[in-house]
Amino acid sequence: MNKNILITGGAGFIGSHVVRLFVNKYPDYHIINLDKLTYAGNLANLKDIEGRPNYTFVKADICDFETICNVLEKYEVNGIIHLAAESHVDRSIKDPFTFAQTNVMGTLSLLQAARQYWNGVWEDKMFYHISTDEVYGSLSNEGFFLETTKYDPHSPYSASKASSDHFVRAFHDTYGMPTLVTNCSNNYGPYQFPEKLIPLFINNIRNNKPLPVYGKGENVRDWLYVEDHARAIDVIFHKGKIADTYNIGGFNEWKNIDLIKVIIRTVDRLLGREEGTSEALITYVTDRAGHDLRYAIDSNKLKNELGWEPSLQFEEGIEKTVRWYLDNQAWMDNITSGEYEDYYKSMYKVS
Ligand code: NAD
Repeated sequence: MNKNILITGGAGFIGSHVVRLFVNKYPDYHIINLDKLTYAGNLANLKDIEGRPNYTFVKADICDFETICNVLEKYEVNGIIHLAAESHVDRSIKDPFTFAQTNVMGTLSLLQAARQYWNGVWEDKMFYHISTDEVYGSLSNEGFFLETTKYDPHSPYSASKASSDHFVRAFHDTYGMPTLVTNCSNNYGPYQFPEKLIPLFINNIRNNKPLPVYGKGENVRDWLYVEDHARAIDVIFHKGKIADTYNIGGFNEWKNIDLIKVIIRTVDRLLGREEGTSEALITYVTDRAGHDLRYAIDSNKLKNELGWEPSLQFEEGIEKTVRWYLDNQAWMDNITSGEYEDYYKSMYKVS
């Protein structure tokens, strides 16, 4: 069957990988990438698929209800994969309103537009919402987040994502809309905006700049290669059980400071420096307010029910990632000029 799929936030980090995968894998589908192009959106992430006959880009804000209604109608959209969001915890601490606006009101605007356009005819329709494991709160040194774990968000970012998850489920329970929600752990890979740990550190090591580490670097995160997340989204969009939730994770936990040392060793080696010399750049900074200690995802439900598993070992993924950033310095330089510099100084108080 032909499908017209609206992917929101497709010019961002994860969204660009999802758009690329769908455009390449499904020539019979029409992929409509709707993105506001905030500081995090970058059409250079999708240069390789520009001009493809099954791909259309629309610059729009998900909060603009009228425009969303028009887009759904114009392209006869029957599937939505919703990734557009404000995504950086530190920015949410400084400016929570923007997060409530985009993540909560924007999601509600999309849901309501889809409900109006689909008008109760749910056959072959799907509203798939991409969320984060951060909605579950923080773990101690033991245990894992399951799909049944109670929500307990601590940052304005995770609170806004939790709220949007609830709205999506409410649209299924109240109106019968076919929905899916997935909660994924930290992603890494090419095209990630360099406010996030891995690209930030690769770039700083390359430029011999301080590496700002929150607190003592004791926080633990689970890391998943972004193309594996995109593959999971593909499997779940096509085979997931309506109204269900799936956790997506890498079975790959790292204490921040240990992860940082792996990045340092890899960048040093690839730049021909003696491995580990850049450890001298590590600079401990005041911890993030409300910093969750540990996130760890149990994604066995997805593995057992739909057969998805991460394809890359972490060592391989990090090597690919570091190589990509070092080989694509123009992409990085383009982003880190201008406004980024002011943001960076205000966040870390290091130059
Ligand atoms: P990102 O910040 O790189 O990209 C977000 C994209 O959304 C950008 O292209 C931006 O222009 C667009 N956008 C923002 N506000 C918009 C609006 N009002 N209207 C239309 N477009 C708008 O984010 P990401 O890291 O790719 O994350 C994508 C999604 O995945 C988010 O929903 C995020 O919560 C979720 N997620 C991210 C991670 C991660 O590790 N990055 C992990 C789990 C879940």
